[in-house]
Amino acid sequence: MSGNDVESAVDSIVDLVNELASHRPIQAVGVGLAGLMHRFDDTVRHNAFLGWNDVPLAAMLRRRIGAPTVISGDVRALAAGVQWSGPGRGLDHFAVVTVGVGIGLGAVLEGRILTGAAGNAGLIGHLRISDSGPLCQLGHRGCASSFLTTSAITRGIGVPLGIADLDLTAACALAAQGNDVARRVFDDAGRALGVLIAEVVNMYGVPTVVLAGDGLGMLEHADPAMNESLAGHLNHWATPPKVEVFSSDFDEWARGAAVVACQWLLVDPPRNSPSNAG
Ligand SMILES: [Zn+2]
Repeated sequence: MSGNDVESAVDSIVDLVNELASHRPIQAVGVGLAGLMHRFDDTVRHNAFLGWNDVPLAAMLRRRIGAPTVISGDVRALAAGVQWSGPGRGLDHFAVVTVGVGIGLGAVLEGRILTGAAGNAGLIGHLRISDSGPLCQLGHRGCASSFLTTSAITRGIGVPLGIADLDLTAACALAAQGNDVARRVFDDAGRALGVLIAEVVNMYGVPTVVLAGDGLGMLEHADPAMNESLAGHLNHWATPPKVEVFSSDFDEWARGAAVVACQWLLVDPPRNSPSNAG
């Protein structure tokens, strides 16, 4: 993709679909991306990473491709992939918590992905963890993102140590060397993740929580604090969940978007617009 503008994105997706269509017929197209969606609608409501607001992406693609096209939030898509062929296969109740650039939740209850009225259920990234702590990019003090995103971790370590452009691998290396700042920041991140997992289990009663996302490298050093925090925040009557780590590269997110398209065609009939027929 040559840029973040909508036309470039549409061109890139159409090129890819055309390339795949030369091998086998395309029945439907699924696109997963971060941000807020309108469920089964044409519109990406808001995507901060791309700077998009109210972009009718599905309709634009459908016109160019001529096949049904469905867009979905990336975490919902990943959860669909986890349910279809990943560690959630065969499970009726589980949650996927993603850690990386952002923090996300996809919940599967009674075999169905919880989407909410507008397809945006699972916005746990700014859940209040503590009354004190760093500020997130939205100005919340002590929210989950302020402790747990990859940039929160690398900034939390890099700024006091005067290291510009610290990445997660280097941050982990500092923790492995016993650096006090790094260990404290990973402990805080682990505690935040433990609270998130506990609250998800308290709310939804899921016996399994799958951790995914490109920021999971933090677990190597945050795991003890996470487990302690999880145990401390679980409701007295809640059953401790099985926590699974799912290594999800880009393909898993993309496969999940394709699964949403398959489910949309096979399970959930298109329900809101004649134009969805292509
Ligand atoms: Zn926040």
